[in-house]
Amino acid sequence: MTSDSFHRATLALLVSLALPAALGAQAKPQFDYPALQSEAVGLLQQYLRIRSVNPPGNELETARWLHDVLAREGIESQILDTLELPAGRANFYAVLRGDGSKKALALVHHMDVVPVSTEYWTVDPFAGTIKDGYLYGRGAIDMKGQGIVQLMAFIAIKRAGIPLHRNLVFIANADEEDAGLGSRTFIAKHPDLLKSVEYLITEGEDSRVVNGKVDIWAIDVGEKRTFWRRLTVNGTSVHGSTPLPDNPVVRLAAAVARLGTWQTQLRVIPAVARWFAAEAQFETGTHRTWLADPAAALQNPQGRAWLLSDPERNAFLRNTVTPTVLKGSQQTNVVPPVASADVDIRLLPDQDTLIFKRALLRVIADTSVHLSMIGDDTPPYNAPLDTDLYRVLGQVAKEMIPGVPVASRIAVGATDRPYYAQAGIICYGILPFKLNTDEYDSEIHGNDERISLDNVGFGVQYMINTVLEVQ
Ligand SMILES: [Zn+2]
Repeated sequence: MTSDSFHRATLALLVSLALPAALGAQAKPQFDYPALQSEAVGLLQQYLRIRSVNPPGNELETARWLHDVLAREGIESQILDTLELPAGRANFYAVLRGDGSKKALALVHHMDVVPVSTEYWTVDPFAGTIKDGYLYGRGAIDMKGQGIVQLMAFIAIKRAGIPLHRNLVFIANADEEDAGLGSRTFIAKHPDLLKSVEYLITEGEDSRVVNGKVDIWAIDVGEKRTFWRRLTVNGTSVHGSTPLPDNPVVRLAAAVARLGTWQTQLRVIPAVARWFAAEAQFETGTHRTWLADPAAALQNPQGRAWLLSDPERNAFLRNTVTPTVLKGSQQTNVVPPVASADVDIRLLPDQDTLIFKRALLRVIADTSVHLSMIGDDTPPYNAPLDTDLYRVLGQVAKEMIPGVPVASRIAVGATDRPYYAQAGIICYGILPFKLNTDEYDSEIHGNDERISLDNVGFGVQYMINTVLEVQ
């Protein structure tokens, strides 16, 4: 009774009974969600077994697998950019056609995963092991689990034959975990595939969830901008026993110390104010007051110290400047001709980069320190809140988790969203799971990454409802 064919037949019957003539506000199509959950779990097991650890990525194999899955459903798809990307890598695209009366919605995920330290895992990260109601594997959350939720929604809507207004686009990219080569190549090479896309949903950072209870449902509407810089100082290479005044290590170290202790300006952008206001409901006393009005709290020494003592809140409230890599001599007795430091700088989503750069140079305060870019700066990404999709993402959460507060937030980490936003698409980040915040923090890019089977089912339902309600 649990075979796929039985479920498909049941699903088709249920849908044909319940589907109104045209999609509208009246009756909702019914889906056999338990069946879709077990089918999605099976697909996710297969997906997790394909090693797409980046580097090298190996996304051609995952793209071929996605192609085969959709081919079985009678859905054509395209494996793209195999020549533009390094060998063994690819992007992937498929579409369900709507009637074209509204612009398209794209579901986007990345196929690559970060490396594993197998010795710290309690199971094989590439076996698709199910244990105690959880499916384990690298990418179970970030982001193959989310990709499968999108894929299952895409397939279920196709099978049900539901008429759509918007084209439903499914995109899987290579290389999100490294340089974002996949999405950037896709956007550059295929403007034709993106030109009718109005909205895009991809990964977001976590909602606030404690012991399985969702306190706040998060919708990511912005992202810190990476602005990575290398500081280089040149000098004269001499023996360490007879130093000169122009030792580049010393000048560099002084500049790094100034940057590392720089108290960048604090300010509260609207998306962060909304997130803090939602969090205030879960605090009492002064903490509640400070979160409800963070701009005022920042004027108060205790309020300010409390807000900044949380590293994520600190990152929400300012540009962060973090020296990381240092390079000088390889030998204790040799003064090097050059010394360099890499600085991981993350700017608030609306930060003007020219103004920031002037401030950065003022803090370095040494014209012998040369500044260069590391990679490209990410474009600004700040999505509007007065859109149909933003409303639907919140409304669906409230339908599935009655009474849950919904709030916008920004991501402090980087995703592919800014590149799609730069192409003129309105992008939101959603983590479509009820995932405990502490589990999210320990498992994303960490050990024993896993997703509960119930969460897979929840995600499928969330995604189907979202796609259908935004039509
Ligand atoms: Zn990711």
